[in-house]
Amino acid sequence: MPTLFAKKITDVSYNMLKEVEARAILIDVDNTLSMHGSNEPFEGVAEWINYIKSLDIKPIIVSNNSNRRVKLFAEKLNVLYVSDAKKPLKSGFRKACNLLNLDENHCAVIGDQLFTDILGANLIGMKSILIEPIDKNEPYLIRLKRLFEKPIYFIFKYKYYNYES
Ligand SMILES: [Mg+2]
Repeated sequence: MPTLFAKKITDVSYNMLKEVEARAILIDVDNTLSMHGSNEPFEGVAEWINYIKSLDIKPIIVSNNSNRRVKLFAEKLNVLYVSDAKKPLKSGFRKACNLLNLDENHCAVIGDQLFTDILGANLIGMKSILIEPIDKNEPYLIRLKRLFEKPIYFIFKYKYYNYES
């Protein structure tokens, strides 16, 4: 289970970041910052990253995708990154904390996949914010995982139905 849920990353508010006690946020790329295969961040993402920085919260990208793809977003958004992170294993998240010189319990995870981003956060003991996936043209293996995510989404949405209000 994630700590919090947001429809998209740009909906993640100051209050939510306060609730997950984040001094740094470890952000996924595909379906969180951008569509699978697209080289452009979603609308408003660059502004949102600047907003996060202005709150003195450090954004860092942690993605299982290749160095080539992840570096592109890191450069566009002017943030540090860890590629080939092997989420849900702890190593990528740990590497990100080391890069930021921050303790693991001051970091929170934002991502769209329960079995990589959120499970990984739980394994290392970080709080997490789950983003609703909007890209329906995902690779086969991810679509398969989504089937197993569905019941959890259902429970979570029910539980937090009134969170935003
Ligand atoms: Mg993703």
